[in-house]
Amino acid sequence: MVGKSANLAVINNHTFEATKAVNLHNYDISSALQTTLKFTELIAIFCSKIANKIPHSAYVYINKEFDLEVKSGVFTRHSCNYALKVEQQQLGELKLMSNHRFSDADLQLLEAMLCCLIYPLRNATLFHQALKMAYTDPLTQANNRSSFNDCINREISLATRNAKKLSLIFFDIDHFKAINDTYGHDCGDITLASSAKWIKENLRDSDIIFRYGGEEFVILLSDTDTNGAKLLAERIRASIERHTIAYGMDTIKITASLGVSTLGDNDTRESFVKRADEAMYAAKHNGRNQVVSAN
Ligand code: GH3
Ligand code: MG
Ligand code: MG
Repeated sequence: MVGKSANLAVINNHTFEATKAVNLHNYDISSALQTTLKFTELIAIFCSKIANKIPHSAYVYINKEFDLEVKSGVFTRHSCNYALKVEQQQLGELKLMSNHRFSDADLQLLEAMLCCLIYPLRNATLFHQALKMAYTDPLTQANNRSSFNDCINREISLATRNAKKLSLIFFDIDHFKAINDTYGHDCGDITLASSAKWIKENLRDSDIIFRYGGEEFVILLSDTDTNGAKLLAERIRASIERHTIAYGMDTIKITASLGVSTLGDNDTRESFVKRADEAMYAAKHNGRNQVVSAN
């Protein structure tokens, strides 16, 4: 055994120190990293577990796939940066900062410890990809109806707790069936995807779009009162009217009808949704291509 390891071992001071430290901390870090699938928690756990071995003043974790940037600590002059990757799967970038330059030994130790982070990050990535797929409509890339059902409950609780306004827009393409009937289902699909894209171009980061049914979308607007929601609905309506769909030799113009409601003190989730839906139907009834507000 001794002879065998002597044959294998090529140890210098750095790797020896690194191996010793990793052996001591590996188990502790690995088991702590198994407790969560949240990126922010994984990074916070990892950075706190390595803090006594590799002192750092701040960390930044960026994951473009999930539009995530996590920062913590005091930004200082020196930094080291790692693009994390396993089997072609990008896992984001981790940057550590320090007042002092990171030594080669620090970096070697950090690289050894990063091995503990890679697979938990890969698991978190797979989990979030699966979640995203389960909540996304593949045709329009809008959130789907199940996502709406979860999200609206959360948004209503948040708005009530923080005494903030919450508004809802129902959006329905006018005479959409005629597009399918005249140009075919493929063209209908392109129209749906284009409409979602044009709606999204008008939204803020905090606004959330859902495909509610066939050619119906809803948009949840946190911290937005009736006036704000009406203005946005009108901007979306005008944007849809302005655009043209090119389909083969044909150019197609569409319009949409929109209904707006704002959460009131006596509203339930059902009454809040129903009022926006009814306002949208009133817009249809009044001649389409317009916004009607329930409040
Ligand atoms: P209105 O102005 O009253 O809203 O009329 P409309 O024709 O838009 O509404 P209607 O509810 O009569 O028709 C909706 C159509 O949407 C019928 C359905 O076949 C079509 N549809 C639903 N989902 C999809 C889809 O994913 N792709 C395509 N191409 N069509 C769809
Ligand atoms: Mg319609
Ligand atoms: Mg409809």
